[in-house]
Amino acid sequence: MSRDVNNKYWNEELETLPREELEKRQLADLQEIVRFAYENAPYYKRSFDEAGVKPEDIKTLKDIQKFPFINKTTQRDTQGVGSFLGELAAVPEEDVVFISTSSGSTGVPTMSPFTKKDFDEFQDTESRWFWQIGMRPNDRYVHALNFSLYVGGPDVIGAQNLGALCIWGGTLPSERLLFVLKTYQPTVIWTSPSYAWQLGEKALKSGIDPKKDLNIKKIIVAGELGGSIDATRKAIEDIWGAEVYDFYGLSDIFGACAAMCEAKDGLHIAENHILVETVDIHTGEVLEPGQVGELVFTTLRKHARPLIRFRTGDIGRIDITKCSCGRTHGRIHILGRKDDMFIVSAVNVFPSDIEAVVREQKGITGEYLIRIFERDFTNKYAVEIEKSADNTKTDDEVATEVSAALKARIGVKPAKVIVHPDGGLNTRSEHKSKRVIDERTLEYNI
Ligand SMILES: [Zn+2]
Repeated sequence: MSRDVNNKYWNEELETLPREELEKRQLADLQEIVRFAYENAPYYKRSFDEAGVKPEDIKTLKDIQKFPFINKTTQRDTQGVGSFLGELAAVPEEDVVFISTSSGSTGVPTMSPFTKKDFDEFQDTESRWFWQIGMRPNDRYVHALNFSLYVGGPDVIGAQNLGALCIWGGTLPSERLLFVLKTYQPTVIWTSPSYAWQLGEKALKSGIDPKKDLNIKKIIVAGELGGSIDATRKAIEDIWGAEVYDFYGLSDIFGACAAMCEAKDGLHIAENHILVETVDIHTGEVLEPGQVGELVFTTLRKHARPLIRFRTGDIGRIDITKCSCGRTHGRIHILGRKDDMFIVSAVNVFPSDIEAVVREQKGITGEYLIRIFERDFTNKYAVEIEKSADNTKTDDEVATEVSAALKARIGVKPAKVIVHPDGGLNTRSEHKSKRVIDERTLEYNI
């Protein structure tokens, strides 16, 4: 590969396009994909006709606001209808070379089809993210993500196309993965933030010091919010002596649709592939860039199954100002899943806010469990934590400190902070941890 390893950009022209030029390209692709979807996907033909909109109505990017939303339910209700790929698909099955499926953690798994061109552009985008965090052909890379059905699995091809030496780790048991890290001395790894942290702790406990005995320089995390929580990212960096970068993916689009750069101030989203809108969670009204709401994505170039105004269920904001790294593609800041947000005393609380406090607080291990319940017809939350083995304070003192820190950050105190001994919470999972338990009865939950 003749690419200049000293150039910080994978595709300099694309990544630094003046905003006006970028939006001009977005508009041309939007017009084309909306027309393609209308002419080839039975669902869009029907829904646009019902809404009284036509592809020709798109004269500016804002005109997308006239078109109806879709969501996960639309995908579920249309897949398999009329054909194997269903009514959202816009190409025949013979044009499709790959499908991934969602985990199904929130219902029936949905599948995401790719044409050959969709897939190649997906991997070129992944190469761009790897390059953006500084991966180069002389890096050794361990892809420690699930390969089974999951859209993040093939991302390893993006690293290979960049020229890195790739080790297809998958979800190895931690002893085996530590063996790989020790024996092959890779420089970059991608896993979930909770697992990155726990793997570091496991290494220390088994006599391996990640800073001295291993060679990991960069850790990519995705799949949970931790990578965008400063305290969590720093905790992982401290254990490994490595830089941590957060990536954001959607099973419906790409393994990573957005990625941090060296500025670590939000995640650059591939705006040449995705048109981002932010809308009011309840009314669907379109908000200005910078305002917090539900992120709505329109895929601009995926032909197998175009997504027009897909409500992601993720709450966040987009910053379209130019980043200090020189890139002009907007940066998204994700606060959490709409489904995970809960309201206490009229305050919107995200589990990520609680995690940030727990990870910053001294004298506790950083492990936590959140319980949401109702009392006297109103929502309350309790937080369970672990006191570090070397902390000499009483449990009551620790609970009071954590409670005050939560009140300071979130605005509402927890009903209770329950203190366990080190290791007392069963939250250390291999790859993805369940940390929120919703005990509200359905009656009050709706
Ligand atoms: Zn940047």
